[in-house]
Amino acid sequence: MQSLINVSNRLPVIVADTITPSAGGLVSALEGFHADYDFQWIGWAGATEDDPEMRKRISRELQERFGYTPLFLSQEDVSDFYTGFSNSSLWPLLHYLPSYARFNRRWFDAYINVNGAFAQTVAGRVRTGNVIWIHDYHLMLLPGLLREQRPDLKIGFFFHTPFPSYEIFRCHPNRRELLEGLLGADLIGFHTSDYVRHFRSTVQRVLGLTSEINTIIAESHTVSIGVYPISIPSEKFEAEMESEAYRSHLNDYRRIYEGKKIVLNVERLDYTKGVPRRLDAIERFLIDSGRRDVVFIFISVPSRESVAAYRDLRRDIESKVSKINGELSTIENAPIHFIHQAVEFSQLCALYSLADAAMVTPLIDGMNLVAKEYVICRQNNDGVLILSEFAGAAQELPQAIIVNPYNIEQMAHAIRQALEMPAQEREKRMASMRRRVQRYNAQRWARSFIEDLTSIPEAQRRPAIALSLSPEMLAPLLSQERWALFLDYDGTLAELRRDPDEAYPDPALADLFEALQKRPNLEVYVISGRTRQDMGRWLGDFDFHLVAEHGFYFKHRNAREWVQFESHVDLSWKERVADILVHYADQTPGSFVEEKTASVAWHYRSADPEFGAWKAHQLVIELQEMLSNLPVEINHGSKIVEINSILINKGVLMQHMKTLNRYDRVLCAGDDVTDESMFRAAGERDISIKVGGGETAASYRVASPGALRRLLSNSLEI
Ligand code: UDP
Repeated sequence: MQSLINVSNRLPVIVADTITPSAGGLVSALEGFHADYDFQWIGWAGATEDDPEMRKRISRELQERFGYTPLFLSQEDVSDFYTGFSNSSLWPLLHYLPSYARFNRRWFDAYINVNGAFAQTVAGRVRTGNVIWIHDYHLMLLPGLLREQRPDLKIGFFFHTPFPSYEIFRCHPNRRELLEGLLGADLIGFHTSDYVRHFRSTVQRVLGLTSEINTIIAESHTVSIGVYPISIPSEKFEAEMESEAYRSHLNDYRRIYEGKKIVLNVERLDYTKGVPRRLDAIERFLIDSGRRDVVFIFISVPSRESVAAYRDLRRDIESKVSKINGELSTIENAPIHFIHQAVEFSQLCALYSLADAAMVTPLIDGMNLVAKEYVICRQNNDGVLILSEFAGAAQELPQAIIVNPYNIEQMAHAIRQALEMPAQEREKRMASMRRRVQRYNAQRWARSFIEDLTSIPEAQRRPAIALSLSPEMLAPLLSQERWALFLDYDGTLAELRRDPDEAYPDPALADLFEALQKRPNLEVYVISGRTRQDMGRWLGDFDFHLVAEHGFYFKHRNAREWVQFESHVDLSWKERVADILVHYADQTPGSFVEEKTASVAWHYRSADPEFGAWKAHQLVIELQEMLSNLPVEINHGSKIVEINSILINKGVLMQHMKTLNRYDRVLCAGDDVTDESMFRAAGERDISIKVGGGETAASYRVASPGALRRLLSNSLEI
């Protein structure tokens, strides 16, 4: 049986004198897997037990009773990793509240350590090819740490919070490490397509990676990203509503609240839930409507009381509640019934099914399950849901009264609208929401994620995206055959840099060059779009043929001077094109124009990636129209649009040299559109290698310049 290892910060248990399971959405969602998988769960037991004997006892019991493997955190870990980094640094930022976010280097060290401890525990329990599902923001480094140790594992990660816009996430001092850690996963899931959009935009801007709508190309593999809106175990609620305890509570509450309208509020006491503004709206409603027959019940579950911001919030809310009750109570009714406690499940279901309306008005919320729970408990399709447009749930439940939680007047009006809504309209809205929640429940959510994770093709999980090339396949380089190597420079031998002047050969690349020039049967052509000056400066000391400007200039390895490869080239168009490119550079901050002898290029690597790509697209269309009758070629490459003569390209030069020098075989490698002409010119016995993703005519592919360098070094037995 295939193993599925679930990893979350907390195990769903409460460890005190005895161990009790704690119910939760995730537990129910995953229940369905017990039959099909050898299911395990790894997480913190919630205890800070130091005594090794006690730890052993707890571990044994958790393993035997539930199949759980616990981690133990020290008091210091809890304070730095959990309360500090996770809840005081990441949580506020993920919820668009940088003003609440605190940063502390010690917290990040603890975060690294605890994620490392998780990685060790997981690695100690897995077998080859196991499926691992990691949950939430406490463990963002874990996918990367695990992949490093165990590339055979299939790793999924689900974000239970929102993923904020780049403008917010970029504030985090450790943004880069966090994102790189996450990208160790094969699949990353979010609640909504907005969060996916934000994540892609952040990864593109912070890490400079390429992303399609549902993938991100990382160096070692392709990461899938997808939308999986979490849901509730609807059948559990329906079953509870058959129970005696539920009926008894319902009867009690009916009696207690007879003659009153109930508006229910249920949440953890958290600053993301928008309680103070909601209280303002309730006050406004009570004053404007003059109604004194409405009671607003708040079930406010205590949360994170070790964080100062949560203690302050509780004080603010309690003072607002007492002010409203003081001013607006009558002998018969206090409008706000504030309960700072969790209630039992049967009580919660009774309240859900009794309340005339529910207010779920977070300032931001990844999903919000309370909204869905209220809906499923309305078995008669009555009741009205008032729902914040900033809760993920609003995308699935548009039939609710959707409100902006910052707009007090609108929320006050929504309460009125809810209490006065005609029965027919209420039914129509609720029936449609119930259908959605019944159909797409927690188990469906979990299944769809795991199905997508397990069906990711192996090829996507490896660095070589297709047609991978192994060092053995390059063994003929060591034979007696005469080889010519045509190697592009930027993005092929050396990593692309924001500043092209920084891409000079580092010592490792210089070592590879030394080794290449020592092989008597190899002739190396470094063939680039760069100018003669750049190439001479960086590569002039090696025993290589140099080709500059995509083949316009050539310098034989024994010659001192460059020669023009093609003498009759019409360059009359160049000035006009350069003017247009300068205009685009003016309009696109971070971009610039490079004028060469036979071509002119617009570089936008340092521009905003989306704006740059859009301007590049516009530029190409404009140039295509303008240059349609001229002997030029427009190449839209990696963050560059380059215009050069049709008579000049790398393929033409390669073909010419091959014929002239009668090499036995050719190996050509490149990363960009301008290299495709070489790939097309390669013969049957030649080897063509594309570096990186995208369509290509090459017969092999490697993921990165690093991978190509390693491949060449290994093949040459360096
Ligand atoms: N809840 C609970 N006990 C209570 C009140 C609420 O266990 O007394 C549960 C509620 O049923 C829901 C969860 O707390 O499943 C809150 O989840 P939600 O997604 O709304 O917010 P989160 O707390 O995850 O931010």
